[in-house]
Amino acid sequence: MIIGNWKMNTPRSDALALANAVVEMKYLESTRVGICPPALWIDSITRIVKGSSILIGAQDCVGDKFGAQTGCINANMVHEAGCSMVILGHSERRTRFAETTEKLLHTIAAVLETGMFPVFCVGETKKQRESGKAFDVVAGQLRPLLTSGLDLGGIVIAYEPVWAIGTGLSATRKDIEEMHAIVREVINRDDTLVLYGGSVSPVSAADIFNAEGVSGALVGGASLSADKFAAIVAAWERR
Ligand code: PEP
Repeated sequence: MIIGNWKMNTPRSDALALANAVVEMKYLESTRVGICPPALWIDSITRIVKGSSILIGAQDCVGDKFGAQTGCINANMVHEAGCSMVILGHSERRTRFAETTEKLLHTIAAVLETGMFPVFCVGETKKQRESGKAFDVVAGQLRPLLTSGLDLGGIVIAYEPVWAIGTGLSATRKDIEEMHAIVREVINRDDTLVLYGGSVSPVSAADIFNAEGVSGALVGGASLSADKFAAIVAAWERR
């Protein structure tokens, strides 16, 4: 599974052009490819990808039902707009909005209830890695899921070391293999997809995709270029 996270990039015309280019991409039926545009463009983009197998996702939503929540968009709304997934717990939101796994359980439940799947992000900061706490931090971000009573079969996990996001620094293959093994040990399910995210590019993709335990990628910056995104998808298929 290769997912593009466009974040708060792409003015409307760029977003529509990028979506049109992504639809033209050729990839295998067995590869699941998705894009997560800014929320305002989702409705238009689901029309562009209609008839293709490109999945559309939101970058966040709230778990509450319809009601008096100024400025919020709930899981039912993004589902109705055509999304099949929602990124939750991205480090940019954990940092800016103090999101934690505990606070997100309600949202994960709401996303699952609609039939969409959460792409749930975990990852350690540079400081946490340098002080030898990376495994504990990531395991700690995952553990509340285990006691939540949620059906973990529907969740995709993205391991995204915070220090690798948007920095051009990718984790080493050894770091990725070690952390993906920890994620899989904590989640304790054979069927969970565990993506890697953090400066995945056409150059770094082949090595990352050969790492044990990697089920694909969550791609930020490189997903803003249809050519780079296609090259990453092709690297996945060549691995
Ligand atoms: C991300 O933010 O999810 C991400 C992985 O970004 P980038 O690929 O730009 O590091």
